[in-house]
Amino acid sequence: MTAYLCEHAWLGGDASASDVLVETDGDRIVSVTPSWSGPTPQGTTRLAGLTLPGLANVHSHAFHRALRGRTHGGGPGSFWSWREQMYAVAARLDPETLYALARAVFGEMVLAGVTAVGEFHYLHHQAGGRPYGDPNATGHALVTAAREAGLRITLLDTCYLTGGIDRPLDGVQERFGDGTAARWADRVDALAAAYPHAADVVVGAAVHSVRAVPPDEATMVAAWAGRHGAPLHAHVSEQPAENRDAVEAYGRTPTAVLADAGVLGPRSTAVHATHLTDADVEQLGRSGTAVCLCPTTERELADGIGPAPELAAAGSPLCLGSDSQAVVDLFEEARAVELDERLRGQRRGTFSPAALLTAATSAGHTALGGDGGVLAPGRPADLVTVRLGSVRTAGTGTGPEVAVFAATGGDVVHVVASGRVVVRDGAHVLLGDVGRLLHDAVRALGPGAGAA
Ligand SMILES: [Zn+2]
Repeated sequence: MTAYLCEHAWLGGDASASDVLVETDGDRIVSVTPSWSGPTPQGTTRLAGLTLPGLANVHSHAFHRALRGRTHGGGPGSFWSWREQMYAVAARLDPETLYALARAVFGEMVLAGVTAVGEFHYLHHQAGGRPYGDPNATGHALVTAAREAGLRITLLDTCYLTGGIDRPLDGVQERFGDGTAARWADRVDALAAAYPHAADVVVGAAVHSVRAVPPDEATMVAAWAGRHGAPLHAHVSEQPAENRDAVEAYGRTPTAVLADAGVLGPRSTAVHATHLTDADVEQLGRSGTAVCLCPTTERELADGIGPAPELAAAGSPLCLGSDSQAVVDLFEEARAVELDERLRGQRRGTFSPAALLTAATSAGHTALGGDGGVLAPGRPADLVTVRLGSVRTAGTGTGPEVAVFAATGGDVVHVVASGRVVVRDGAHVLLGDVGRLLHDAVRALGPGAGAA
């Protein structure tokens, strides 16, 4: 048994509790007692500040981190011009360099309080699509990276078959493809079999998008996820061009195509869901499909602002992802949901701080097939402590609004993930100098790694 005495802790709702004793056993919480006034158990760790449950980063492409700071200039551009730069990095990675980069990026996430990541993984094969000796070499590299960085991973192995609707894979895209969903499923069966009963690894499935997976093949991916009780994610309507292509080819929106293919449902998550019709919103909500918003990426790539309040009202749980790693800060993602809505609707207060923090915690862990994100007995022993005396947080109070509207990921000073201390006094206990690891991993990709 290990005990923590939290100066303040968010246990859900609009306020925090004080003097909260949290006892853990192995990777689980066994008791949570607010207003503790008695003697503390021997060896109790005192956590000064505001302690939150673990944050969940539901949508990540770890390797996109190599593009940070390299794609912002250069004049007018679009999602599609950014994608060409991203492909240039994808072409250079192999299992060893992907491992080193992902380990550092996951370390950056842990420093920002993330205790579980959903890695949307399609960098499967060698150039031209030839499998590595182990066809899951890159997937295993990501799992190893996550384990060494100290967070849980849901590896969303992504089916990626076409370079656009009715178009073959082209260039670097050939690395992403397995040919058919049946061959994708065979490979992912072997991947899942490598992690039986692992508490820190979930193998999930993803349909890259309606651009990259034909409807009948998407049905097979959904069937695989159903057989395994696994999370199923898909990029949906990030760009208007995807909608136009789908309507032209299928006479339906991407959401309707995925609904008819059996991809939507309570274990499913639609990523972005930016450009939706009213019928799409209704269909996502009614099916219980979660929606993962990635606001810092969506603004970086000029995607647009999705209909977050409408989706929430329709029944879709909202969660958050750092996606392109332009920023790794779940507090920034959370506040952006509300602040973007203020710009869109010219009205304040659509989402409460507690609702935004729920998106960053429990809703996210659920979308990843886990049960974290709640400080309660039986849940994963994840404790993320934000200091309240920094220049950003001093004098702001002690409730969830401090984390959502004042703090940054840099204010996280202590992280326990699955019962293990992984960040102490703002430093990564397992990896040391994560900035140096990031620098080295990006530089290893060659001069001007991100520049196409
Ligand atoms: Zn993505």
